[in-house]
Amino acid sequence: MNQRRRELSRADRLLPGLWRLRLPLPWPGVPHVNAFAIAAVDGVVLVDTGLYEPGAMRQLERALDQAGLSVEHVRLLVCTHAHSDHYGLAAPILERAGCELWMHPDHDHMTRAARNPERAFERRLEVARQSGVPADTLAEYESARRGQGFGIAEIVLPDRQLVHGVEVETDLGVWQVHETPGHAPSHVVLHQPERGLLLSGDHLLGRVSLYYDYGWTPDPAGEFLDSLDVVDRLDVQLVLAGHGRPVRDARALTEANRRAVQERIERVRRAISDGPRTPYDVVPDLLEAEPGSPMMLNWGLSETLCYLRHLERTGAAHKVDGADPERWALAA
Ligand SMILES: [Zn+2]
Ligand SMILES: [Zn+2]
Repeated sequence: MNQRRRELSRADRLLPGLWRLRLPLPWPGVPHVNAFAIAAVDGVVLVDTGLYEPGAMRQLERALDQAGLSVEHVRLLVCTHAHSDHYGLAAPILERAGCELWMHPDHDHMTRAARNPERAFERRLEVARQSGVPADTLAEYESARRGQGFGIAEIVLPDRQLVHGVEVETDLGVWQVHETPGHAPSHVVLHQPERGLLLSGDHLLGRVSLYYDYGWTPDPAGEFLDSLDVVDRLDVQLVLAGHGRPVRDARALTEANRRAVQERIERVRRAISDGPRTPYDVVPDLLEAEPGSPMMLNWGLSETLCYLRHLERTGAAHKVDGADPERWALAA
């Protein structure tokens, strides 16, 4: 366990009726996640929740309290996507506030996995094995990760499906839902057109940090690129991201993400250009470093697999027939 002293949560008022709630995370390199409280009639719409872990509800309460609010003021909970840091506390919030949860219907990547954690873990190990991860590295990963929770209090399903065209009413105006899969299949952003505000979740962050849920949709990297186009079509003056500070220039962020994805796809393409290689072999080329921990390897491997799929779908690469572990080569 990480013994370092934990940061405390806090609330920043961004506009009258709009608060950013900074909730600490125990993850290396990701010190906190943002939830947002938006005034709505006699309470608030809460966007995202923070991770479920010991003391997390107290951290959320502390941030809400700084905004003059309590969990009981939440009239509606909206989750930008079903990752633990954005959805983990949904169950206790719904129970205390007696409100509805709105979330995108493609939440299996979390809810199905969390329903059967052993199976999800076995499946992940099998993907790693098929990708060429050596047995001793697999065993190390297995002992580090087995039995670790998902960071969600309980599986709760949405009362309403957050799909394109759904609107969320607040005192700051109506927020429109746009589907932005890629980072996660369940990802949406919320846009307030008159004020040019965008609640971007993890789709757009202040600094480029690419992550995709592998194995739930055919081409997460391609979906992510399409979802950057979705944001480019919106009038955005201020990006309220799921981590880090608000950012003004949305176009600069979409461009930086597009460039980063293209560059990383190119690294993978180059890595398989002199003959078939396993996804595991490609990871150091993608990261431009040896993965320093099982977590880095897991992250790098998912990303590599997503780019290989993307190259396959665009006709640039193929999996060599019958190879186990799988091996990839450029298309002839
Ligand atoms: Zn996420
Ligand atoms: Zn996140």
